[in-house]
Amino acid sequence: MEEWPPGRGSRGVGRRNRWVPTVAAPLDPIPSLSGVAPASHAPAMNSVEDLRRTLERLDGKPYPAYKDIRGRYRADWGELSVDRVQGDPFASPSRLSVRLSSDGLGLDARLRESPSRRTGAENFLAETLARGLAGREGRSGSGSSGLLRIDRPGQEMLRRTCVEIRGPVTILRFSVGLPAQGRRILGRRAAGLLADELPGELGRLLPDRLDRAALQRWADTVEDADFLRGELADRGWVAFVAAGSVLPRRSGVDERPLEGAVPFLTPAELRAEVDLPHAGRVAGMALPEGVTLLAGGGYHGKSTLLRALERGVYNHRPGDGRELVVTRADAVKVRAEDGRAVTGVDLRPFINDLPGGVSTESFTTTNASGSTSQAAGILEAMEVGARVLLLDEDISATNFLIRDARMQRLVAEDREPITPLVQRVRELHDAHGVSTVLVLGGSGDYFAVADRILVLDEYRVDDRTDEAHALAAGEGPGQPRRPAHLPPVARVPDPASIRPEKESGRGRADRPPKRVVRGHDTRGLTLGGEEIDLSLVSQLVDPAQVRAIGGALVAARDRGILDGRRTVAEVAHALRDWLEEEGLSVLPGEDLAAFRPHEWAAALNRLRSLRLRAGA
Ligand code: ADP
Ligand code: MG
Repeated sequence: MEEWPPGRGSRGVGRRNRWVPTVAAPLDPIPSLSGVAPASHAPAMNSVEDLRRTLERLDGKPYPAYKDIRGRYRADWGELSVDRVQGDPFASPSRLSVRLSSDGLGLDARLRESPSRRTGAENFLAETLARGLAGREGRSGSGSSGLLRIDRPGQEMLRRTCVEIRGPVTILRFSVGLPAQGRRILGRRAAGLLADELPGELGRLLPDRLDRAALQRWADTVEDADFLRGELADRGWVAFVAAGSVLPRRSGVDERPLEGAVPFLTPAELRAEVDLPHAGRVAGMALPEGVTLLAGGGYHGKSTLLRALERGVYNHRPGDGRELVVTRADAVKVRAEDGRAVTGVDLRPFINDLPGGVSTESFTTTNASGSTSQAAGILEAMEVGARVLLLDEDISATNFLIRDARMQRLVAEDREPITPLVQRVRELHDAHGVSTVLVLGGSGDYFAVADRILVLDEYRVDDRTDEAHALAAGEGPGQPRRPAHLPPVARVPDPASIRPEKESGRGRADRPPKRVVRGHDTRGLTLGGEEIDLSLVSQLVDPAQVRAIGGALVAARDRGILDGRRTVAEVAHALRDWLEEEGLSVLPGEDLAAFRPHEWAAALNRLRSLRLRAGA
């Protein structure tokens, strides 16, 4: 979790008091392996050859007999551990981990010790193995028989549990389908899979086979991006987009760069240079703090630029095109999300005097409107420390963004509960240090309040601030009639809100109820009996993040971090600090990836069973 926020320049809430829960589970002791071949082992540990013989003996037995192979096995190439054994061939695949010597892999101290470089290297090792395994055939038999896979990084390079470089030891985690015919164990195939094929695949990582130059490039790329992100706040920028970056993606379902795209051109007014550790001097567009409007005709690339900025809170793999599109770690995309649940949010900065005299000081609904959901999104983001808001007209509630002069004449101020953002956006920045980048091509109402008006024209950014200000001369958004009530009261979540236990009729009284925490791609999360809809939380980019957030919701309660006294922000930041300290693998769940406090809080905020403690 080193990337949140990336060290220098971070001003997130809760950074001062690093806090680690005292009940943290100690890490497994890892035998020190020297060279690829370990020098010595605890005498009790079986070898992979023992495992081979056990598997051959299990041939033809009923599937549950596979349970016998749980445990750790030494080999001349490292150590294999069978961590979880599936109950039947159709259940979710079994889990293996492998421990290798970092020295033996040629991972030097510089790669191991810098969190940025380590993340780049881990992603490269995962990618190398995943690419190798992708072309593999070998699944035959029932269910997942013969499957062997490792979690694969997407375009974003996140810390992940599938590959962890921990000083002298590098841990790799795989899913494996233990082979069966019907429900009978195919023991000889299992032996070949675990004792021959898996070590063969690991051979791709050996120094003489691995693409060392690419490994360094991945590490350099993360280090440059983290360095640049660290510079942003110090220089008063919200984002930097290097000249020549490729922003558009191949399609709505393909995150690779669009071929033949127009590379990013820097407008002269916003041109800046940065000196990076590896890329050297790089020129590009520095977007300053304040209120920035992205205008321009339809289809000229406004939303594409904004989406690149929202993804810029993450680092991208070499070749992505967005390696040096870097946004502050505290930037949050906020959209309308009608129908979502909102719990106890003080909406008064934006929404007041609802019909029927409903108060909005602690507003709860199971079915928010477009404008209330967007107002709640902004206030929830600020609660966790967002200092940059990203909004797009395509997915915003119009009545939340603007209310034009004619409408103000038709509908009296006191009949309109909404204070539109246009009346608050200056105050957000001037009084609370929260910058906004807003895509709005359909109205000039923000000209008077924006520090900068950038016009996209055939994917090129033009700074047209002076012209737009002249057009708006003498006009303003109107004074908001109501006080802002900012910052709103911090909320304290009740630990009883988080219930991973699945109440099932078949549960036996003497057994604890089964826990269900399951991610569904990046769309959502099952937590016990509840579905959390995350499909519109657009800065969740990887299914492994969603699984990790599920684990972190449960861990926050189990470990007493979410204790009924800490606020949402305090819990989110304490979790971040704890995971930075201990690594993501302390969380329950498999194949996890790093997430920000903002997305953890977004999941909590969308929990329909969320309850708050009174009187924070
Ligand atoms: P807007 O929000 O201004 O209506 P979009 O950002 O949605 O426009 O972009 C419209 C289309 O142009 C999209 O299909 C997008 O992939 C494509 N596009 C955006 N930027 C570029 C670029 N630099 N080069 C080529 N195509 C681009
Ligand atoms: Mg658009």
